Amino acid sequence: MSAKIVYPGSFDPLTNGHLNIIERANTIFDNIIIAVFNNPGKEHLFSMEERVVQVEKAVSHLPDVQVDSFSGLAVDYVIQQNADAILRGLRAVSDFEGELQMATMNKELEEEVETIFLMTDSRFGFLSSSLIKEVASLNGSISQFVPEHIEQAILDKLQSK
Ligand code: ADP
Repeated sequence: MSAKIVYPGSFDPLTNGHLNIIERANTIFDNIIIAVFNNPGKEHLFSMEERVVQVEKAVSHLPDVQVDSFSGLAVDYVIQQNADAILRGLRAVSDFEGELQMATMNKELEEEVETIFLMTDSRFGFLSSSLIKEVASLNGSISQFVPEHIEQAILDKLQSK
């Protein structure tokens, strides 16, 4: 049996923490779809199209990883893609409550869609997209936290604001 998993998220922008989850999942699952969530109600630094292109470039070395975008319910997207489960990353205890709530709700909505969690690598436990944006906006170096093309995109975006 081949396993196909969907990794949904905002990825605004993708960080080395996300990339680590993707690379590790790639050694376990046959196919991964990174699904950039299009949430019109939320303010993002990057448009959905920009985020998709950034993620595509970051995972171009991984042949079994696809990038897509979706709106609406993640469980509906998983079923539409004929995938087996949702993948999420877990950092601190603070992630746990929200993720448990979301995974439980998703199970209520679609009993057959499981959520699988990978623990963050300790090197990335402190990394979040919002912290990266905050550090960059205060002129701190973010080069060790995101791929180079994403660092450049953040700097360009902040300069154009
Ligand atoms: P969302 O807005 O859906 O939480 P994110 O783009 O912030 O989307 O994160 C997508 C997933 O990646 C979430 O499961 C999140 O917990 C996980 N994640 C984010 N940063 C890290 C990290 N540094 N290490 C491991 N997992 C992470």
